[in-house]
Amino acid sequence: MSRLVIKFGGTSVGSADAIRRAATLTHDLRTAGHQVVVVASAMSGVTDQLLGAAYAAAAGRASQVHDTVAILRTRHLDACQSLLARADYVTRAAIEQRLGDLARLCDALAVLGEASPRALDAVASLGERMSVVLLAAAIHECGTPAVAIDAADIVRTDGVHQAAAPDMDETRRLARAALGPLCEGGTVPVVTGFIGARADGAVTTLGRGGSDYSAAIVGAAIDADEVWIYTDVDGVLTADPRVVAEARTLDVLSFREMSELAYFGAKVLHPKTILPALERGIPLRIKNTFNPGHPGTLVVAQGTDAGVLKGVTAIEKQSLVTIEGRGMLGVPGIAARAFGAVARTGTSVPMISQASSEQSICFVAPQSAVGRVIEALEHEFDRELARQDIERIWALGEVVVVTVVGSAIQKVPGVAGRVFGAIGDAGVNIIAIAMGSSECSISLVVASADAAPALRHVHRLLEA
Ligand code: ADP
Ligand code: ASP
Ligand code: MG
Repeated sequence: MSRLVIKFGGTSVGSADAIRRAATLTHDLRTAGHQVVVVASAMSGVTDQLLGAAYAAAAGRASQVHDTVAILRTRHLDACQSLLARADYVTRAAIEQRLGDLARLCDALAVLGEASPRALDAVASLGERMSVVLLAAAIHECGTPAVAIDAADIVRTDGVHQAAAPDMDETRRLARAALGPLCEGGTVPVVTGFIGARADGAVTTLGRGGSDYSAAIVGAAIDADEVWIYTDVDGVLTADPRVVAEARTLDVLSFREMSELAYFGAKVLHPKTILPALERGIPLRIKNTFNPGHPGTLVVAQGTDAGVLKGVTAIEKQSLVTIEGRGMLGVPGIAARAFGAVARTGTSVPMISQASSEQSICFVAPQSAVGRVIEALEHEFDRELARQDIERIWALGEVVVVTVVGSAIQKVPGVAGRVFGAIGDAGVNIIAIAMGSSECSISLVVASADAAPALRHVHRLLEA
């Protein structure tokens, strides 16, 4: 008998049918004798709608808020009605209460005329707070006792709204106290993904797509034997199936490989999910709710070397920022100052490449942040610019970072050559290159129109 944390993503709880499947899977695992803790996302699309309503409220667009509340009410209450045989007043009332919270929060935002990160978290949290009520009721309906749990009561975080980090010691204490007795007594806790709370009780979120991270946090907190991520594809694929039709499921990956794939754009798993699992040595499994017989992908400490290259990913809508000037040659501290200035804008940089001549530094930043990044750099280097030690700070957008991942890259000679050859065969120009410091990835910057051909050509190397 194992203790499992299983997470259902947005599509997996996106309709009454999907919720019924998720509930049946949970019930079957319980019946097979496992202790099960469920972590659930909001119904697909709901978080976007909630945030849209918050921005609309702050901008004074009351009718949009009203429409969104109505759409969310219909979707959740229809699912409730379809899932539960008897009129279930408790479940309906719980959903109505959350919709009431949404309307009240939006009223407050309309009065203030602005949406702070703290307020956005309060609004965004409501999707998970509604979906868990439905899923818990549906599991109950299958004959397994289940109870909805608000992660604000068990995941303690810092106060960085919209990207909160867990306090693992406190989370461990809270989660064990709340979930342990339920699991041992045969009840399935159904925990809201994505959210947590500060010590003063204010709700926080872990970042978009963060329910995967929640599952790993809860798994680490209660010493789960495995964490299973149920999604809408058969596991981690060699590429995004929406771009590369030939993409196939990977059987096994190491934590490092998974971390690189996720960090460089494989949306199937939130990149932060790896760390809590790795620290406690908890294997992750990525499985398909809609094809549960498929074994999916297992992510463990030691992967396999079979196939040097495991997967290829893309991060879209990026810009390439370049700082250039002959006066930078050999001057210590330029890079530190540059990245210090970028960090102060709150922008994360997925890739850096510096020419060895030290006459230029280039790095990639999200296109949406590039205006404030350049402003910050010009401010930081105003004297160097005036003296023309730095000649230009400029950005090339829109570009895509294409990354090839495989832990054997470091051991096998000629891999980079094969990758560049494949890109050349696609007739694609490489704008910049970086080899991941973990030596398990190679990243290339290409123009956005070239991304799909580059991905497909590099993908052919994976099949060799
Ligand atoms: P969930 O709501 O279950 O968290 P997501 O939409 O966040 O699901 O992630 C699953 C999606 O990730 C898949 O439907 C797929 O389109 C996309 N995806 C991108 N890259 C990959 C990859 N390498 N392997 C699997 N899926 C990928
Ligand atoms: N519902 C949240 C989001 O859409 C978290 C998640 O789905 O993982 O970002
Ligand atoms: Mg996701």
